Amino acid sequence: MEKIYKGGCLCGHIRFQAIGTPANPHTCSCSICQKQSGAPTVNWVEYPASGVVWTGKGGTPKTYRSSSYSQRAFCPQCGSTIGAIDDDPVIAFVTTCFDDANDVVFKPQSHSYCDTQPDWWRLDIGN
Ligand SMILES: [Zn+2]
Ligand SMILES: [Zn+2]
Repeated sequence: MEKIYKGGCLCGHIRFQAIGTPANPHTCSCSICQKQSGAPTVNWVEYPASGVVWTGKGGTPKTYRSSSYSQRAFCPQCGSTIGAIDDDPVIAFVTTCFDDANDVVFKPQSHSYCDTQPDWWRLDIGN
């Protein structure tokens, strides 16, 4: 049986369950991630949309179209960054949304857009 990973936003209005081991654990320091999250680098994992169920009172998160292929997702009540809902359909979560972000499946394996990190912030994850 596949493990179910649970998570949600700061206020609990948006909750989700994601089924099985996530794909493509990585960090990203692109300007869109930075602006949307407020952090210099964000940690990501991906699921097929069919592997995600929105279980909170708020249903699906509110979205903002950030590119031609993706929308950024956030809680309309508390503003928490949830992730991105791609047109693919892939749902990417920021790993800090998960209730237990310590699980090794969330450990990033690569870092996208290293060059747009602030000079005072140099995350080295060995890629
Ligand atoms: Zn919330
Ligand atoms: Zn990014």
